[in-house]
Amino acid sequence: MSRWFTLILLLMTATVAAAWEEGLAPLTDRGSGTFDIRVTFVRDRDDFDIQGRHLLPGSQVTYLASADVVAIFRASRYWDPELNRLTLKARDRQLSATAGSRLVQRDGVELLLPVPVLSLDGDIWVPMEFVVNVLGPAVGEPVAWSHADHVLSMGAARPNITNVRVETGTRSTSLHIFCDEPLGWRALGPENGIVTLKVYGGIVDRREVRVSQPRGLIRRVSSRQKSDHALITVEIHNLVRHSHARSGGDGREIILTLEESEAPSLPDLDPRGALNMSSPSELNRGLREIRTVVIDPGHGGDDTGRIGPSGLREKDVVLDLARRLEDELEDLGFTVVLTRDGDDDLDLDSRAEIANRSGGDLFLSLHTNGWFDRQVRGIETHMLRPAGIESGGSVDATSFVPWDRVQWRHLGAGREVAELVQARLVEQTAARDRGVRQTAQRVLRGVDMPAVVVEVGYLTNPGEEDQLDSRAYREKLAEGLALAVADYRRGVAAKLARSRGD
Ligand SMILES: [Zn+2]
Repeated sequence: MSRWFTLILLLMTATVAAAWEEGLAPLTDRGSGTFDIRVTFVRDRDDFDIQGRHLLPGSQVTYLASADVVAIFRASRYWDPELNRLTLKARDRQLSATAGSRLVQRDGVELLLPVPVLSLDGDIWVPMEFVVNVLGPAVGEPVAWSHADHVLSMGAARPNITNVRVETGTRSTSLHIFCDEPLGWRALGPENGIVTLKVYGGIVDRREVRVSQPRGLIRRVSSRQKSDHALITVEIHNLVRHSHARSGGDGREIILTLEESEAPSLPDLDPRGALNMSSPSELNRGLREIRTVVIDPGHGGDDTGRIGPSGLREKDVVLDLARRLEDELEDLGFTVVLTRDGDDDLDLDSRAEIANRSGGDLFLSLHTNGWFDRQVRGIETHMLRPAGIESGGSVDATSFVPWDRVQWRHLGAGREVAELVQARLVEQTAARDRGVRQTAQRVLRGVDMPAVVVEVGYLTNPGEEDQLDSRAYREKLAEGLALAVADYRRGVAAKLARSRGD
């Protein structure tokens, strides 16, 4: 909607709101009765908070601002000041409601709400009833409202995989996954230190179904929503020798038990480490098939990263982008590891450590850029500029490499990746091409695989902030990154084939 239209709408409704407050005074004080509502888009596994209000004294009816309703349903709205009437258009359906009235019209059919539509603070407020029972059905979007949790679920029923609990014993650890109804499931793995649980018909509450700190034999648990099932990924300790899963609680519980071996065992040799020792020349060229991609969403927790002029936060943008990229890459057959899959505060060395432990073949750290000049915009990709290299330092794969210089081994491959990433991103988004740069990125130093930092745009540029706020644009970025990773995989596979003499 254009800015001037919004402005006019605000002016009009402010007048009406004043009339309401003088005449009928059904409204509570401004601000009181205001609370957060989480809107969850189950299919896109996206969510955000809006504000709900109790506007009628002595009533628990929840009201939503039409601005939020429009955003949730991707609708458009129109205000007729003479009739005090708000018209919403969504997916070719038209609904209208009049401030102060319980009557709403849906494609010419009149319906009666239990409470009136109200006007306040420059917007029209509609009762939840209107959203759940009128607008949702009209546009064919299942909508569920939980008054107790203040959660509005869009697109499907409410989550039925709701919680996890870890129990640790002396030599075993069990993970209990709680469901609201009996669900079928399958356990896969362990493979590369990961057990995957595929829960059919599962709708997972991703915020609850996760374990972000190591507990016993479990390193981490995360979950993802797929179209017809939920995936729960359990990263396990390398001491685990047996794992088995079973149902409990009348099918409402999935219990994964991990057991350490009876005999004390030596730590496993990292096969990649052994390869590094035995074939330095292979190593130097960084030649191995690209299977596992580590995505590192920058910042998190108290560290918000950049904040755009209208409040968009880097940590949120890059996490959402990471999840979209994860989906794209999984569709292309890659195994994907996220250094954080929530709002976690991770230091840079932990990110490198997670990447190295996961046996990743490629590391992409996602960031948004910022500058005090708000005109500056565009995409850039960074590879490591190792301090000392220009002044005669060298990368010798046969000698001992200090931990914080391990990335030096992969600089050639890193440049290749950076160039592919930069080219695909610019191609997908038509953003300004700021090129590949060498910078002293600390997060890259300890990463033992080709690694780049991608700055997907300038959050300080209002235009790019707007773009970065949109799902469509993030989708383009994710596609560009996935294409670059696929390009790189193809290139490496061709080189490997040549070196084998195929
Ligand atoms: Zn950053």
